[in-house]
Formats: sequence, structure tokens, C-alpha cells
Amino acid sequence: MYKKMSVEEKILISHTEKNTDLLGPYRRFVIWVHGCCFDCEGCLAESTKNGVYTETDIRDLAEDILSSETEGITISGGEPFLQARALFGLITLLKKIKDIGVIIYSGFTLEELQKDDDSRNLLSVTDILIDGRYIKELDDGRAYIGSSNQRLHYLSDRYKEIGKTYYSAEKRRAEIKFTLDKAVLIGVPSGNVLEVWRKIKEKSGGDICDF
Ligand code: SF4
Repeated sequence: MYKKMSVEEKILISHTEKNTDLLGPYRRFVIWVHGCCFDCEGCLAESTKNGVYTETDIRDLAEDILSSETEGITISGGEPFLQARALFGLITLLKKIKDIGVIIYSGFTLEELQKDDDSRNLLSVTDILIDGRYIKELDDGRAYIGSSNQRLHYLSDRYKEIGKTYYSAEKRRAEIKFTLDKAVLIGVPSGNVLEVWRKIKEKSGGDICDF
């Protein structure tokens, strides 16, 4: 389906979800990339650092995304900008075929990312960046964002209108999804959901949990 490109063509992925509105407006395809260079206390994505992952060709992933009929993608992790070149390649492929929206959660700040060429390329195809490390003490319960130091940047106009409503929601929304061999926490959880999630993890000994 796609021509060979002179970018990194493999991406390390911990998990994907095809159809959710818990990490951005409209129905989204969410990619949790594997690997992170930070060590935030209270990180809710430990499995993206220590758990299983797959190495996926960006063309296969693009086909998967395009068959999902979602409005756009959200990339979380893990730290997406550690794989900036592969993600830029993926988004470039997608945009040749469909005008998809792109939201990225990163532990780096926008200012840090702007110093790096590959990161700047990825930012150039990103509509919303939610940036900064998660700081447990600054977790203020804001919907869709982990702690108050983290900022939402509109890098294009695409979501500016819908974003006013979506990101000003009063409550956090998240869900715990069970598959045959794992449980997946999707979204930024409230204290109640987090409590349930912790109990599931304790009871399973961590065996069935992904994030
Ligand atoms: S940046 Fe995100 S994934 Fe990485 S340690 Fe911090 S909370 Fe966890």
C-alpha cells in the first residue's frame, strides 16, 4: 500500500485501542508507545516502561488506524518523542490518505522539544501537545490531564473550538477494560477509579495488568 520511506520504519508499542473518546475529542485510535526516559513518582504507565511490547512496521500500524474509522490518533506512553522519527513517518503516511488529527502526551516540555530537530518535525504534524512530567503532589483532578504543571498547547486550530468544551469537563473519565490476558486502564483516572485499579493489580499480583 505504501512506498518505502527514508525514515525509521519500526515503532515499539505497548498497547493500542481503536475507538475511544477518553484521551481526546471524537473517536480516537490511541497508541501507547513503549519506553520512557523519565521516572515520575506515581506513574500510571509503568507497563509501558517494563512490560511487554511489540515492534510494529509503521505501514501495518497505518493500515490498522485507517481501518478504524476514527477522527484522529492520540499518542501516549511511555515517551512518544523517544520515537519521534518513526512517529513522524507514521503520521506522514496517514496524512497522505486521510486528514487525521494528532494529539500527543509527552513528559518533555514544549520548550525542551523545540531544541531537537526530530522532535520539531513531530510537533509540526501535531495538533495538541499535553506536556510535562507527571508530578503526584500537583495532581489536582483536572479532566484529561495528570498534574497542574502539565500544559495543553494548541499547535493548530483543528481542536481549538471543541477543545474549549472537551478539556473544561468537570470530572475525569477513565475505564478499565478486560481482555483475555490483561486489564487496561484507559484515560486519566479519578481517585475512585484509581482505587479500583490498584485493588485489581494487588489481587492479580500484577499478572493481568497492562497499564
Ligand atoms: S513521563 Fe509519563 S510514562 Fe514516563 S515516567 Fe512520567 S508519567 Fe510515566
